[in-house]
Amino acid sequence: MSTTIDTPVLTAIPHVIGGERVAADGRTGAVFNPATGAQTGEVALASAALVQEAARTAQAAQRGWRATGLGKRQQVMFRLREIISSRAEELARIITAEHGKTVPDALGEVTRGLENVEFCTSLMHHLKGEYSEQVAGGIDVHQVRQPIGVVACITPFNFPAMVPLWMVTTAIAAGNAVILKPSERDPSAANWIADAFAEAGLPAGILNVVHGDKEAVDAILDDPIIRAVSFVGSTPIAKYIYTRAAENGKRVQALGGAKNHMIVMPDADLDSAADAAISAGYGSAGERCMAVSVVVAVGDVADALVAKIAERMPAVTVGDGTEPGVEMGPLITRDALERVTGFVAGAEAEGARVVVDGRELAVDGDGFFIGPSLVDEVAPGMRVYDEEIFGPVLSVVRVGSYDEAVALINDNRYANGTAVFTRDGKTARQFEFDIEVGMVGINVPIPVPVGAFSFGGWKDSLFGDTHMYGPEAFQFYTRRKVVTTRWPEPSESQISLGFPTH
Ligand code: NAD
Repeated sequence: MSTTIDTPVLTAIPHVIGGERVAADGRTGAVFNPATGAQTGEVALASAALVQEAARTAQAAQRGWRATGLGKRQQVMFRLREIISSRAEELARIITAEHGKTVPDALGEVTRGLENVEFCTSLMHHLKGEYSEQVAGGIDVHQVRQPIGVVACITPFNFPAMVPLWMVTTAIAAGNAVILKPSERDPSAANWIADAFAEAGLPAGILNVVHGDKEAVDAILDDPIIRAVSFVGSTPIAKYIYTRAAENGKRVQALGGAKNHMIVMPDADLDSAADAAISAGYGSAGERCMAVSVVVAVGDVADALVAKIAERMPAVTVGDGTEPGVEMGPLITRDALERVTGFVAGAEAEGARVVVDGRELAVDGDGFFIGPSLVDEVAPGMRVYDEEIFGPVLSVVRVGSYDEAVALINDNRYANGTAVFTRDGKTARQFEFDIEVGMVGINVPIPVPVGAFSFGGWKDSLFGDTHMYGPEAFQFYTRRKVVTTRWPEPSESQISLGFPTH
């Protein structure tokens, strides 16, 4: 009698280039289900040669797409909207299987990504040019917006559908062809999006998904066909992308990491503030670039606020994100789990006080789980404060005044998002005026702008000058060309070597 050993069947995750599935041409990377800790897939990791081939494919396809009428491009966006909204749960489950966030949270991600598709259904409006009649006698000037050509979008693991949709939708709406290089840790959502675009009528070769790691990214940064790079990820990589892409003459926007502070003023409603801290600190296991990671307690609110946050924490249900009722899933990888565990383990030695220790939570199986942690009496200079943790750890910094709170935030190298909790309009207005951060919430803990605005932080949270999606994305993905026109009578012709003036 023979015994059967169960070997897991791994899903091969190919590239999508020129409308075709392209299998691994060499190296592959392991993809895990973070809730079980088991490897579930094997993603192709592109060589430099494959990236170059994809860039050539995109370049050839882009000529036709650029010439496609704006009305037809809009129809693709309308169809895409229907496909994604009618099958949102399918995409959400793909996200959960590789990222670990709960299905409702993944659905939220899909919905926020869809906002960008909806914004792009009006692409004809967003691409309108400008015209000035009679700038001088018989002379008119107009400005058109033309696509850049081939652009690359390099995305992080934490929003495997939303961040690609932030970028590729506008790039394509503006008439470009795209090389999307998603995170190799949860790559399948990108392939789903490419299929959805194809079903919506996007011609082959306009959206190409090239999976990979540093080798693929470096090939993108050095490829002369690729004229612009959009990046979202950690600060060291963002800085690297910005520098190398700019050195190669590319247009670049590179969004980096974050350390988002939420100020709680003495007049704030502490129950609402505690609810907000829990939701924004532990949602998606803290793996959101707009997660609150530092609560700044002003004046004498600290003891009551810490108590209110702590008393809510046992109710946060941690587990497999596909299970109904679960509110917080696992971290993305075992490495991430070890890193986050290290911050909590080191906090006491640094002089902080661990009020709730997430390491004490046990979830059955080998998933990458840690419970929510609350660390009080944190201060600048401690690792737990200075570094981006990117996990379910809320730090509390106690300060004496509003001015101290603002100085703390303005001294931080990151400046992605921040929030103030107060019932006083004057304080809120002053905060908006004083704070050196790109996205601000007034009694809103995760102030991610709606799709009609643009998204981006300041300082080490963004390298470049253009924010993502919305109106600024149409700026980023187009080149402005200014045309000066005159229709003179032949009899008016004359030679003049002087510099033209009106
Ligand atoms: P990451 O920087 O590790 O990876 C981002 C992308 O860069 C991936 O596609 C990855 O393959 C690639 N990459 C990784 N190492 C590289 C290297 N050495 N050379 C070239 N390319 C490399 O980021 P992540 O862990 O996937 O995502 C989490 C980070 O992203 C956090 O720091 C988070 O704050 C940040 N983030 C920021 C925003 C924002 O809007 N500012 C949004 C989402 C995530």
